[in-house]
Amino acid sequence: MDASIVYRYKRGLYINLTNRCSTACAFCVKNLWKMDYRGRNLDLAGAEPSPEQVISLAKKEWALATFDEFVFCGYGEPTMRLPELLDCARAIKTGAAAPIPASMRVRLNTNGLADAVWGRATAPGMKGLIDAVHVSLNTSDPAQWAALMRPLKPWAAGGFEKVKGFIRAAVRIIPEVRVTALEGGGVDTGAFKALAGELGALPRFRRRLDSGVCAPAKRTAS
Ligand code: SF4
Repeated sequence: MDASIVYRYKRGLYINLTNRCSTACAFCVKNLWKMDYRGRNLDLAGAEPSPEQVISLAKKEWALATFDEFVFCGYGEPTMRLPELLDCARAIKTGAAAPIPASMRVRLNTNGLADAVWGRATAPGMKGLIDAVHVSLNTSDPAQWAALMRPLKPWAAGGFEKVKGFIRAAVRIIPEVRVTALEGGGVDTGAFKALAGELGALPRFRRRLDSGVCAPAKRTAS
């Protein structure tokens, strides 16, 4: 089966930009589910799509049926391809992806490590292009964060602080910033909510058997 670069979930169109990750999250199911998500093959096999390919496919999907949200969320961390991600969002917001409306809500689901990966503040570049950022933060405890997120070596040192820095910056720039955590994952929910408030983000808890950062919902069959 060909890899899905775009796929639908509810009223959203999801964009599978890359299979590369800056973390190896303990709750990730991409290997367990053999890169399948709800019957879609999300294994790009190294053939990452260009922004032009993404927009072309999105326009084809729009012609088949409209959607309400354009979401960067696949089996990989979307900000590993930050320039391409922003090019796609820019095409939407400038009307270059017409007939997809420029008013389309654009959301990024992320592990929040973009600043660490790119060695600079990345949230400012998202201004006017990204409407919502959902960060899989998962805990208020740095040691638990490291155990759950398992950041890869180049980005592990100080990773939790960098994620918090990204969230703080995003809150100043992006209309909706949420931090998510797994339900029943041994997380101190009160402390997590307190940290969310301190960062200026909204907390959201998600089910254990969803696939965390990347896939949008609980899988119903094994
Ligand atoms: S949950 Fe997402 S970011 Fe984490 S390892 Fe899996 S695919 Fe990568």
